[in-house]
Amino acid sequence: MIEDTSNRATFVEKSNAGQVDLDNQTDEFFMHQAMSLAKKAQDAGEVPVGAIIVIDGVVIGQGFNQCITLNDPTAHAEMIALREAAQNVQNYRVIDATLYVTLEPCPMCAGALVHGRVTRVVFGAYDHKTGAAGTTMNLLQHNSLNHKVEVTSGCLQIECSAQISDFFKLRRKQRKQG
Ligand SMILES: [Zn+2]
Repeated sequence: MIEDTSNRATFVEKSNAGQVDLDNQTDEFFMHQAMSLAKKAQDAGEVPVGAIIVIDGVVIGQGFNQCITLNDPTAHAEMIALREAAQNVQNYRVIDATLYVTLEPCPMCAGALVHGRVTRVVFGAYDHKTGAAGTTMNLLQHNSLNHKVEVTSGCLQIECSAQISDFFKLRRKQRKQG
């Protein structure tokens, strides 16, 4: 909350204006869009994770998991969305942005989001194996790092968790049959 106080002030005003319900609706609105992106990953045989980056209600970056398709271990939804957002704002820092992602970010993505100075992360499903936004570790708010990201966890958690677990259930079933 130190840099760029002009825009931050607007955010704080919005947050304090008693619009909690409205903010929740907005979060869910964008999380639904992230879920639609996750569906694209699923259609390509990838683990369904989708991410979207928003500044002042405007979408500036989108991504879905494409590790297998691109032969790229870094092609997580958040990384792709962050790269697109940075290109769109023509800055290696994406100040005042909120990232919505259907699954809790892993350590790689959490690190990238700190580097990119993303203001806030909203995630859906918890990742009990590699979640780095508080579940197995909290890199987004680590005392040793010089930027802390606000975190809202569990937005549309049931829907996001179901999307991922349904994918793995189906895949196990297909493997048994095949
Ligand atoms: Zn990741």
